[in-house]
Amino acid sequence: MYDKNNIFAQIISGKLSSKKIYEDDKILAFHDVNPSAKIHILVVPKGEYMDYTDFITKAPTDEIKNYFAKILEIIKDLGLDEAGYSLVTNKGISAGQTVFHFHTHIMSGEK
Ligand code: 5GP
Repeated sequence: MYDKNNIFAQIISGKLSSKKIYEDDKILAFHDVNPSAKIHILVVPKGEYMDYTDFITKAPTDEIKNYFAKILEIIKDLGLDEAGYSLVTNKGISAGQTVFHFHTHIMSGEK
């Protein structure tokens, strides 16, 4: 079950602060508080999805397309497309997911 009080829900609602780099009515992108790469950004849909499976299963197709297209826009805006980047999403305990609101990590630069 989706926990409405998870950390990213609190960041989306503004209860908790974050270093935002992009926001619209559907998506928020912000810097990871504990970066594991020189650039480490988290991109979250504002809807209540726990993980990738939940997002792909429940979100409308246009929302899914918009989300991944926006990730690429952010990558290009930050000038990361040429140098290269990793996209990671962890689903479930065995993958090491710690925050159960779907998110994609954008990582680039030296480790
Ligand atoms: P996961 O392990 O679930 O894929 O990734 C969760 C990520 O959220 C971790 O990289 C962790 O550093 C980041 N994180 C956890 N709490 C906060 C927070 O309060 N603010 C921000 N900006 N990032 C957080």
